[in-house]
Amino acid sequence: MAIWIDPEKCNGCYGALQPPCLRMCPGDLIVKDVAANKAYLKYVNDCWDCLPCVKVCPEEAIEFHLSPQFAGKGARLIPHVVKGKDLIEWESIDVFGKRETFEIRTKLIAMALDEKLEGEPQPIDFSI
Ligand code: SF4
Ligand code: SF4
Repeated sequence: MAIWIDPEKCNGCYGALQPPCLRMCPGDLIVKDVAANKAYLKYVNDCWDCLPCVKVCPEEAIEFHLSPQFAGKGARLIPHVVKGKDLIEWESIDVFGKRETFEIRTKLIAMALDEKLEGEPQPIDFSI
């Protein structure tokens, strides 16, 4: 199993060189393609599914892909952070495309970006 970063949703955290997903990964497995302004999981086989990267992404761009042996090919979990409540609503999609949602209380940590492109909006909500 491993996480997957949706390139359509990842906005590179507005030009940050060390966006939250990079800083939260204890194995330094996520890197950022600066030219494309996208993060991606470089060392897929080393990911141990601890998921702090998922929890801190302000764009909900990181999905958790379940093992085909465990859940069937294409099964995945997509997080929807409930701001201000330390809660993630997980959207589960099975191999047939059936969707279910469930909530799990989770300690969420707002993180500042190291740097941003000048003039861009600030995407982090520090109230959580
Ligand atoms: S935290 Fe999310 S939006 Fe920011 S660089 Fe990582 S995956 Fe992309
Ligand atoms: S799930 Fe854990 S080990 Fe895998 S990329 Fe995210 S933070 Fe790193």
